[in-house]
Amino acid sequence: MADRMTIVEGDITRLDVDAIVNAANESLLGGGGVDGAIHRAAGSELQAECKTLGGCPTGEARITRGYALAARHVIHTVGPIWQGGGSGEEDLLAACYRESLGLAAGNGLKSIAFPAISTGVYRFPPERAAGIAVGTVHAFLHGDQPIESVIFCCFGEASVQAHEKALAALGGD
Ligand code: ADP
Repeated sequence: MADRMTIVEGDITRLDVDAIVNAANESLLGGGGVDGAIHRAAGSELQAECKTLGGCPTGEARITRGYALAARHVIHTVGPIWQGGGSGEEDLLAACYRESLGLAAGNGLKSIAFPAISTGVYRFPPERAAGIAVGTVHAFLHGDQPIESVIFCCFGEASVQAHEKALAALGGD
């Protein structure tokens, strides 16, 4: 499974994959961070499509087209705001990864790239988040589904290291 997971450092809006995942908020109407970068790069048609969706609860995901992006689709998921760990944040973050992968697989997509959901403005501790991200993707890839490539697109070296550590902890399976 680990051979289908890759860590790259850089701007997710540049990736030529079937879908990039957006760390959105519940309104789906755009925001700062990676959300703002994706909307800027995709153009205003993305926001127009998002407006038709009526928002998205935390832990769920929605799919749109990619418009001016190299990516064919955007999967918008809403990560939890970190509140100390006692409010179901870990389960909700895992649900974001599972739901996004489920949407990708259900739409026949083969390649998907994730940012480090919730680790920016939403303050989820980055190492914990990386463990959940890598562990949840790994478990999903064990199932019978068509996804061939999952990229963890990390913004900054510390995020790369957190994901590498999590991947190494899987033991190469
Ligand atoms: P959240 O509200 O879910 O915390 P943020 O956008 O604030 O979302 O941050 C999520 C992660 O995305 C952070 O690790 C941040 O550094 C990273 N990030 C910000 N811009 C980009 C980008 N253009 N490409 C990839 N990752 C990005």
